[in-house]
Amino acid sequence: MKILVSNDDGYRAEGIVRLNEALRPLASTTVLAPDRNRSGASNSLTLDVPLRVFESEPGVHYVVGGTPTDCVHLGVSGYFDFEFDLVCSGINDGANLGDDTLYSGTVAAAIEGRFLGLPTLAFSLCMEPGSQRNFAAAARVAHALVARLQESPLERGYTLNVNIPDLPYEQLKGIKATRLGGRHRSEPVIPVEDPRGRRMYWIGPAGEGQDAGEGTDFDAIAQGYVSVTPLQIDLTRYSALETVSHWLKPLA
Ligand code: MN
Repeated sequence: MKILVSNDDGYRAEGIVRLNEALRPLASTTVLAPDRNRSGASNSLTLDVPLRVFESEPGVHYVVGGTPTDCVHLGVSGYFDFEFDLVCSGINDGANLGDDTLYSGTVAAAIEGRFLGLPTLAFSLCMEPGSQRNFAAAARVAHALVARLQESPLERGYTLNVNIPDLPYEQLKGIKATRLGGRHRSEPVIPVEDPRGRRMYWIGPAGEGQDAGEGTDFDAIAQGYVSVTPLQIDLTRYSALETVSHWLKPLA
């Protein structure tokens, strides 16, 4: 099995180093990762300038001046003269629960691998303030999930969004299939001043969990379980098709 490993925190982040180490005993891995932190890049592609790839270790490790999606797009669409079987992204420095999945470059990198023959995996470590940064435990979870995929492949076409509580491996309660929950609206933007007295703004923190009851990714993490959510690309709200069709009638 050939695994393409990427992330959104950049090639030097602890999470991707640990993820690559954990997967190497299972498969031939190739890292293709952004040259800096691109968290929040979502599914963006760089279309206005060409992408430069630095071969830090030919065949094994590549650094790209682009987004997570650029990295995986390069990796599966022509940079190499072979095909990958799987894309693994992460381990992200922070949770990707509920609405986070829309903004996440970690999840986007996994989604970009959707044309491959296997599901693709996004891994995130759910850090709390003052946390222990248990990347080693999260890497063991990643190893176990990829080993499970090798033993029993799932069908193609979706992405597994894996969130891991920030606990030592022995303290993890287990692993649960979940649905995405939802967050309250974000905290307001934070104004700051530049040295010339002009106003600028930081994007504020994400809201707390709102739809966070039983069965959600938020709940699994709160209980100490690894959360695995199968994602799909189709954002159509099927239950609203008829309502919208009716609403459009006067204009049709
Ligand atoms: Mn990130």
